[in-house]
Amino acid sequence: MDKSEIYKDIANRDEIIEKLNEMIGEDDYKGVYEEINKIYPTWIINIIDNYSEDYKYMDSNWEIICKNLNVSKKKIILVDFIIHNSNDYKIIENICEKMTKKGFVIRRVEEFVQCVKCERIIPCKFLWEIMKIQHKLPVPENWSNKCTNC
Ligand SMILES: [Zn+2]
Repeated sequence: MDKSEIYKDIANRDEIIEKLNEMIGEDDYKGVYEEINKIYPTWIINIIDNYSEDYKYMDSNWEIICKNLNVSKKKIILVDFIIHNSNDYKIIENICEKMTKKGFVIRRVEEFVQCVKCERIIPCKFLWEIMKIQHKLPVPENWSNKCTNC
């Protein structure tokens, strides 16, 4: 089935959103993961602690966002599907919004690879190119699927 079908809202949407928001409000993230896995079992692909050491600026950005929100850094959640401003995916949108405000980073799985050694995440080659060439950000000279020091 197409991703745009899999992740559509389900019948008792408002009830589910309310339940999830309650759990997020109580910092019951294990409960949130379980609930999401019940509704959309393929959505959460991986839950990771941090970015590769080679992309320290991404970690610093995350830190700044969290400081401004007055929360601590939580986890990076790699997911199968993200959509913005659509009426048919309010459950997914709501999770992304509320979890981000709690200090999580939610990103599309295809945008990252995991370092084969330390398992921290590295932006895919396409993102690395944008960061390096377009935004002149401090990224490694050459792209690799493992950290410089791993
Ligand atoms: Zn590594």
